[in-house]
Amino acid sequence: MNIENLLSRRTLAMSGSGIRRAFELGAKLKDPINLSIGQPDFPVARSVKDAAIHAINADRNGYSLSRGIPELTARIAEKLGNDFGWSFAGGASDIIVTPGTSGALVLAAMATLNAGDEIIIPDPYFVLYPAMASLTDAKAIYCDTYPDCKLTAARVEKCITPRTKMVVLNSPGNPGGVVNTADECRELLELCRRTNILLLSDEIYDEFTYGESRTQQAARPDKDPVMKCPSPARFPGAEENVLLVRGFGKTYGNTGWRLGYAAGPKKLIEQMIKLQQFSFVCAPTPLQWGAIAALDVDSTLQIQEYQKRRDMVMAAIGPVTGLKAPGGAFYAFPKIPEKLGMTGLEFLEAAIARNVILVNGGTFSQRDSHFRLSYAVPEHKLEAGLEVLSGLLSGR
Ligand code: PMP
Repeated sequence: MNIENLLSRRTLAMSGSGIRRAFELGAKLKDPINLSIGQPDFPVARSVKDAAIHAINADRNGYSLSRGIPELTARIAEKLGNDFGWSFAGGASDIIVTPGTSGALVLAAMATLNAGDEIIIPDPYFVLYPAMASLTDAKAIYCDTYPDCKLTAARVEKCITPRTKMVVLNSPGNPGGVVNTADECRELLELCRRTNILLLSDEIYDEFTYGESRTQQAARPDKDPVMKCPSPARFPGAEENVLLVRGFGKTYGNTGWRLGYAAGPKKLIEQMIKLQQFSFVCAPTPLQWGAIAALDVDSTLQIQEYQKRRDMVMAAIGPVTGLKAPGGAFYAFPKIPEKLGMTGLEFLEAAIARNVILVNGGTFSQRDSHFRLSYAVPEHKLEAGLEVLSGLLSGR
């Protein structure tokens, strides 16, 4: 049998993730300094592990409702009520718990995009965004956000056509770690409102927002006074236009648990729940019990630690690359100095030759002029990696 004849155009059109490729290249190295990994290096909190283990031992191992266990959706509703003033009781909004943030992105694409529809994504982008278009035979419109990696209303407006259905905002962003200001979020929301376009706000890194990029906009500061990442969801009436997507994996260090959620217009969430019934069925049930405990975890110390590492990155390679300090996530996306005359791939190869693994910019972009480093690695590894990189970047 010729299996290749049976493969869909959809799958053949996608190239494998460049992140995995960097991983495979690095697999040949002995004890490499791996700055390519996009997940936290701290362990899951004891209380969260215990809650999941307890659920397993208490025989909560069957299917859950496709929308998620009511105890978890209630906690998420409470959180979003405090943060944004969103109301879910009989309101126009709803929540779905999904297998990872990726699950929410795929369901959102399946629920909205027809063949030929357009979805505007930032360039550089998280690798799943172009796939949201490939999976649905829609078209990804790359909104150039260089040099600052900010998706702004002015940039998005130029990409809108009558076929545009969705704009994807990712702040704090992967790969740039860039955080939009509250005003920039509001302008994007207003543009999407005016043009009847869904604004998907992927806030998987929301907790990893560093002091200077946080803002005070909580709807109920009496309940939750902590300054937060600016979000378009924080403006009145946003739930009619915004599909908020968030995850547990990065925030609580359990990416392998595959847990995320989406909240937004009820009519859209209803369709996503229906699609989930016919695909993933539900997010892993015992781990949803763990997620409830996760929502009580205070990650302040971890965030401070990551901010310190961000500052180490800036001190080591900020001056030589002209990089602006990223306001969030745990990535930096510097431009390779032109005087080196290297593409991202060439720079990646040079780094690998010195035992350091990165991801080249072309993995996240239509151009290959930058590289992504993740500083979610122990401090001594980061220090060693930065020494190699600053040498490479200075042409030494
Ligand atoms: N969105 C962004 C911006 C990401 O960086 C990632 C993971 N790297 C995801 C979504 C998917 O995360 P999850 O593991 O929750 O599916």
